[in-house]
Amino acid sequence: MSHFETDSIRIQQRSNQKEHSSPIYLSSSFTFDSAEEARAMFADEIPGNIYSRYANPNSSDLIEKVCAAEGTEDGIATASGMAAMFGSIAALLQQGDHVLASRSLFGSTHQLLTRVFPKWGISSTYGDISDYLNWEKLVQPNTKMLFIETPSNPGLEIIDLEWAGKFAAAHNLILVVDNCFATPYLQQPAKWGAHIVTHSATKYIDGQGRVLGGLILGSKELMKEVHFFARHTGPSISPFNAWILAKSMETLAVRMDRHCENAMKVASYFEGNPELEAVKYPFLASHPQHDLAVKQMKAGGGIITLTLKGGVARAQRFIDQLQMISVTANLGDSRSIITHPASTTHSKLSAEERARVGIADGLIRLSVGLEHYEDILKDVERAIEMSK
Ligand SMILES: *Cc1c(COP(=O)(O)O)cnc(C)c1O
Repeated sequence: MSHFETDSIRIQQRSNQKEHSSPIYLSSSFTFDSAEEARAMFADEIPGNIYSRYANPNSSDLIEKVCAAEGTEDGIATASGMAAMFGSIAALLQQGDHVLASRSLFGSTHQLLTRVFPKWGISSTYGDISDYLNWEKLVQPNTKMLFIETPSNPGLEIIDLEWAGKFAAAHNLILVVDNCFATPYLQQPAKWGAHIVTHSATKYIDGQGRVLGGLILGSKELMKEVHFFARHTGPSISPFNAWILAKSMETLAVRMDRHCENAMKVASYFEGNPELEAVKYPFLASHPQHDLAVKQMKAGGGIITLTLKGGVARAQRFIDQLQMISVTANLGDSRSIITHPASTTHSKLSAEERARVGIADGLIRLSVGLEHYEDILKDVERAIEMSK
């Protein structure tokens, strides 16, 4: 293993064609040299590609790069981030099991836990991030999994991964960490004891808003169950999308450096602006868990939140005044993106529920892109003024 940047670039499947850049393997199945080889491969006695629902050279490329980045032994790549979230729970739990989860979860993960898994007898309880040191009381005799996201979306609350690793070990829980916001470049949950790391590769791993993809990563032992589940339920990623994402891994480090640098500049610039109630960014000294963020993250990430004075109406006026920044639901793109959670992604939550996960009515989520930071500042500053 070399450095992060080198592994992300140099890990690569090779064919016998001496290609320099990985080709796309658009092939549903792969041939066997003999009946005996076919038998042995199906019996898992020898490695190799059988059928693209099981594995494909492009998905293997992606998985090996991300495993090296996360420090995990094994993984699978899926068609979307949600297929990864679903698979990590469905493969490892059974009827009667219980999940303890952080309340601030991605919207669809929340729907999985509250609407989908209860149909099959898998229940869950939420713990508040602000109170996670007291989650002891939320553990039930049938609790099998601790599922967390840090930093949270969009509240940017941080959970102590060292604490989570120890808590999971003490209660014999499988610790799953959705590491989408931080990426393996900024934070490696497995280092702190996470058993499973999940990703929506759609965000920073793609980094240019092109394809969907997801990953489930962990030890060989736990991944056995996940491989079995995926092989027979079919959430496989397309070779083309895996090729895009494996290529994107080559630039993840340099992109994240710039995302973080730009986000820090934008957050610092607007901190203290009289039109804002709050500016939140994990690496600002004013973030309530700044010390923790510095302990477990290499930099603060590409997402900041700005809370405008004047609630929903002001936030909507602000968005309508933007000239460059995109108004769209994605994040982690080279282009800066703005979202107003209270009226869109989190509109189904009650005002009280939103308050519990740190979403004020005037809160704007800004995914800081790779444009020149002065142009991002200018667009935001102008929209703040024009929306008064
Ligand atoms: C986007 C996202 C997901 C879902 O991923 P998709 O690729 O959109 O299916 C899950 N978790 C987090 C934190 C996300 O931001």
